[in-house]
Amino acid sequence: MANRRDFLQILSLGAGLTALSRATSARAGVLSSLPKSDRQLRVALMGLGSYATRVAEAMESCQRAKLVGIVTGTPAKAEAWKKKYNIPDKNIYNYQTVSQLKNNPDIDAVYIITPNSLHHQHVMQVAAAGKHVICEKPLADTAKQAQEMITACEKAGMKLYVGYRLHFEPHTREVIRMREAGELGTILFVDNTCGFKIGDPTQWRLKKALAGGGALMDVGIYAINGARYGTGEEPLWVTAQEIKTDPVKFAEVDETITFQMGFPGGAIATCSTTYNFNNLGRLYVVGEKGFAELDPAFGYGPIKGRTHKGPLNQPVITHQTAQMDGLAECILDNKPDPNMTGHEALRDMKVIDAIYESIRKGGQKIMIG
Ligand code: NAD
Repeated sequence: MANRRDFLQILSLGAGLTALSRATSARAGVLSSLPKSDRQLRVALMGLGSYATRVAEAMESCQRAKLVGIVTGTPAKAEAWKKKYNIPDKNIYNYQTVSQLKNNPDIDAVYIITPNSLHHQHVMQVAAAGKHVICEKPLADTAKQAQEMITACEKAGMKLYVGYRLHFEPHTREVIRMREAGELGTILFVDNTCGFKIGDPTQWRLKKALAGGGALMDVGIYAINGARYGTGEEPLWVTAQEIKTDPVKFAEVDETITFQMGFPGGAIATCSTTYNFNNLGRLYVVGEKGFAELDPAFGYGPIKGRTHKGPLNQPVITHQTAQMDGLAECILDNKPDPNMTGHEALRDMKVIDAIYESIRKGGQKIMIG
C-alpha cells in the first residue's frame, strides 16, 4: 500500500468487499445582514496537503461552510487552489503572514491541516489573529501543549474544534445513542484497533520533530477516542507495550503499541495500533445487555456495523461535509458542541501521554490525571 490515504480508503471499502465568538465588528456586520439559516462559515484551510484536498472537495457540498481562503507555503499550490476554488488574492496567506488574518473580515475560521507537531504554533497564531480554529488530530504533541492551545483560544474568545469527523458519522452516532439509552447495558469491555502499513520511509509521519509520535498519535488516537465514546467515561489508568519489528524505519517514532485501560464503571479496554500492517480498524463495545461492532469503524466510509439487534443501516455520508456543516452551526448558531472541542482532545492527549509514560516505564500502570 502506497500511503495513508490508500489505507483510509481501503478501510472504508474493506468491510464492504471483505472485510466561533468574538466576531470582529466588520464580520458581525456581514453575518447579521443575512437570515440566520443562510449564514455561511467562511473558512481558510492551512496546509494544502492530502487531507486538506479531501476537505476542500467535501466542502463543495456544504450548505453552511464555504472555502474562501488558504494558507500555504507553496506559491504553485496557491495559484492552483486560487483557480480551482475561486479564492480572491486578499484571502491567500503564507506561514509568515498568518497574523495579518486579523485584518481580514471575510474569514471566520481557519482549519489547520498541517503536520501534527506544527499544530501548537499554528493554533496559537490563528487564535492571536482572532479567528475560530478547527485543528486536525492529534491536537498537539502533549497534553500540556493542548491545554495551552485551549487557553489561548478561550482568551481570544475563539472556538477550538478538532477534526474528529466520526462524531458526525451516523453509524458512530447510533452506537453512542444506544449506549446512552442503556440499550447495551453497563459497558464491560471495549476492543478497538486502528492501524495500517505505512509506506514512504522519508515522510514526515516517521519524523518525531513533525509527527510528535508514530502510529499512536496518528491513528491509535481513534482507538482511544472510540473507547471514550464507547463507554461514555474517562479512563482511570492505562498500561502499554510497544513492539518494534523494524527499528530502522521506526527509529524515531512508535511502530506497534498495545494498551489497556480501566474505566470508573468497571469496563476494561484493550486496544492496538500499528504502522506495520493493514486491515486494522474496528470498534467493539460489549455491555451486559448486548454489543456494538463497527468494522470498518474509523476510515472515511462507508462505515459498517452490527449490534446484538442486527445490522446497522445508517445513511452513508461524506464525513468532512457533515463535519464542516455541523461545526458551522455550532459557531454561527451556537448549537451545542459535539464531542470535538479542544477539551475533548485534551482528554485524548492525556491518555497518549500516559501510554508513552507506561512504555517508558516497562508497562507500568499509569493513573491518568
Ligand atoms: P500531508 O503531508 O499530505 O499534508 C501536510 C501539509 O502541510 C502539506 O501541504 C505541507 O506542505 C504542509 N506543511 C506545512 N509546513 C510543513 C512542514 N514544516 N513540513 C511538512 N509539511 C508542511 O499530510 P496530511 O495527511 O494531509 O495530514 C495533515 C494533518 O491532517 C495531520 O495532522 C493528520 O493527522 C491530519 N489528518 C486527519 C485525517 C482525518 O481523517 N481527520 C486524515 C488525514 C490526515
